[in-house]
Amino acid sequence: MPTKVTARYVLGFKNGQHALLTDACVVYDGDVIVHVGRDYQGPITEERHLGDALLMPGLIDLDALTDIDHLILDSWAGPEHAKGHQWSEDYFRNRRADVFTAEERQQIREYALIQLVLHGITTYMPIASEVHSEWAEPLQELIGMAETSRRLGLRAYLGPAYRSGVNVVLDNGERSVMFDGGRGREGLADALRFIDYATELADPLVTGVLLPCRIETLDMEVLAATAAASEERDVLVRLHSLQGLVERELILDWHGIPPLELMERAGLLNQRLLIPHATFIDRNPAVHGEDRGDLARLAGSGASIIHCPLTSMRYGSTLDSFNAYKEAGVNISLGTDSFPPDLIRGIDAGVQLAKILAGRNDAGDVAGYFDAATLGGANALRRPDLGRLQPGAQADLVAFSLGDIRDGVHDDPLRTLTLNGTARQAVLSVVAGRTIMADGMIDGVDLDYWRGRAQELFEKMRAAYSDRDALKRPADELFPPVYARLER
Ligand SMILES: [Zn+2]
Repeated sequence: MPTKVTARYVLGFKNGQHALLTDACVVYDGDVIVHVGRDYQGPITEERHLGDALLMPGLIDLDALTDIDHLILDSWAGPEHAKGHQWSEDYFRNRRADVFTAEERQQIREYALIQLVLHGITTYMPIASEVHSEWAEPLQELIGMAETSRRLGLRAYLGPAYRSGVNVVLDNGERSVMFDGGRGREGLADALRFIDYATELADPLVTGVLLPCRIETLDMEVLAATAAASEERDVLVRLHSLQGLVERELILDWHGIPPLELMERAGLLNQRLLIPHATFIDRNPAVHGEDRGDLARLAGSGASIIHCPLTSMRYGSTLDSFNAYKEAGVNISLGTDSFPPDLIRGIDAGVQLAKILAGRNDAGDVAGYFDAATLGGANALRRPDLGRLQPGAQADLVAFSLGDIRDGVHDDPLRTLTLNGTARQAVLSVVAGRTIMADGMIDGVDLDYWRGRAQELFEKMRAAYSDRDALKRPADELFPPVYARLER
């Protein structure tokens, strides 16, 4: 029987685009939306009044941190110091080990998924740092995560990350990748097993996808086999690439072609591919500083990019530019990639950075960014039933409260939320018709417990960097505090 949710603002969908309604409601029956509009005459069994809030499609985060925060540690160092955050050659050869037990990894995943729920994300594709693992992501870990995800009720696109090599700092101080081709092949085999597992689950909230690690950590054999499996099984591939100069130089060195061409050669560059970041193409000033055809090639391939504005900004880069990629016809989805999984703050960062890049205020495309967080993600996932509040679409919705005095005045509520707000204002999250969060609380989840537990796990993770560093610097030296710490 139908549920009706009313709010002061509802972001509906008309003529192929989002459109704002005032004092309106969304009605859903089971997992499907049946009505969006001013009033509803039909019978309902449940009604929820949100008051001063913006009710909109659930946020789609396709590079969603399912890990403990590491950006808080590693987004401050210069290039030399940053080498201390990587594996040493010796660690790779002789001492690599898991920092966490399998049980701790499950706890980290649960903590991170809880964060996604609390920040209004309804659909996600996970990312975690492999730096703390002996190699990449074990099959069993992802099976456990799928169970946690189902319990919490999120819509998940999952697979164990795999790689043929690991980013290291060589004994001569240079950054490179050391390979073990067998591990790459085994990883891909496990990824395919996970897809079989997900298919057998037959849960519409769990879809198996191929999530290899960064492009420079995959050998040609695994890249090509990934492309072949994606085509054969018609599954999506997400490949971190076009994200930095080290990656570009290594690929040029080994393959004689830049990363975009390598993806094409491997058979990956097509409508099943999602590329996180995608900031280092020809037009980036650090590459050629001019358009030599990369954007047209990306757009023509049908691949999607996953733009992570907040994380990119915090590592000192940005998409140059959102507007240019959009005008070229590239499908843009959004990701958070790091903590906090706050796409509202991400949208604000992206919108303001676009103004700086263009040198004009009208380059701030709030609608373009909200589209990316909803419709762009749905496009990338090939899910026209997601990312929009429209009869027939999936009942994936989120509401952000705008009723606090600190929210300021309301003009367009999307601008109020973007400029003054944060995803922390999420007060309701519904996935496939199930309420997974209300008033900042998740049924059966003790947030205080997780806050404390996450801090313990974080301390363990932080301490473990020292052993991997070629210079064995203590954590306090690798991660210097803002001000000196006076003990007493
Ligand atoms: Zn990423």
